[in-house]
Amino acid sequence: MTTTRFAPSPNGPLHWGHAFSAIVAHDLAREAEGRFLLRIEDIDGPRSRPELADEFRRDLEWLGLEWEEVPAQSTRLENYRAVAARLETMGLLYPCTCTRKEIEKAGASTGPDPGSWAGAGGLVYPGTCKGRAVDPAEPAALRLDVEKALALTGPLAWEDDLAEVQQANPLTLGDVVLVRKDLPASYHLAATLDDAADGVTLVTRGRDLFAATHVHRLLQALLGLPVPRWHHHALLLDESGQKLAKRRGSPALSDHRLAGEDGHAWADRLRTGQWPSGISLGKA
Ligand code: GLU
Ligand code: ZN
Repeated sequence: MTTTRFAPSPNGPLHWGHAFSAIVAHDLAREAEGRFLLRIEDIDGPRSRPELADEFRRDLEWLGLEWEEVPAQSTRLENYRAVAARLETMGLLYPCTCTRKEIEKAGASTGPDPGSWAGAGGLVYPGTCKGRAVDPAEPAALRLDVEKALALTGPLAWEDDLAEVQQANPLTLGDVVLVRKDLPASYHLAATLDDAADGVTLVTRGRDLFAATHVHRLLQALLGLPVPRWHHHALLLDESGQKLAKRRGSPALSDHRLAGEDGHAWADRLRTGQWPSGISLGKA
């Protein structure tokens, strides 16, 4: 049974890129007579605007999609805490008190896909706090000691619809944050645990999240989670060749919906590569 998901974060309205992503995931499930899930990833602290989730549901309905909704991330915090505690017992996490500024100053390099992925910030952490005694009174994030983790798991690979077999290379991302200063999980930990809990067998998402999969594959191996397949689809780009973003003026789906446009017709256009004006499909 194929189970796919669309996992938007309610920190801004959905745009055409989200519509495309949701349609790809929806149709892959339908073709396989499987399940298509909606999961609201609402643990982005102050950036999260829960009221947007309702807009998302209306947008998806407007596009003619059908889904099963699974619990939002904000209801799963206990599970994140329990798993983080397990990784800590395994000696795989260390506290990090660095601010973003300090990480920049310490000479962090930008990651494989700088700044483009959820909660990751795009900087490769140079390991400043590794092996350092940290004042327990200071707010600290917990980072994964990737070298130590890989020593436990050995080499890992994953299967990807668009790119065949991939060797997992989580070292290129550095010691990522698994527990944020302000939250019991980071994107990496929450999404990996949820995909497993929700029985997702085909993780469908944009090419901009490809690099995150190196880390997710490692977490699955450490925690004995089932290993899905991945489908990283190409991204819709604006006129300057950048991925769509609300802050660069990409129109919200809800604007089209509220203007009375035909969402089903839009969805069919996106399915057949007829992009809205000024938009094109990037490389896979
Ligand atoms: N919540 C993430 C986002 O909105 C997507 C996570 C994923 O698909 O893995 O960008
Ligand atoms: Zn640090």
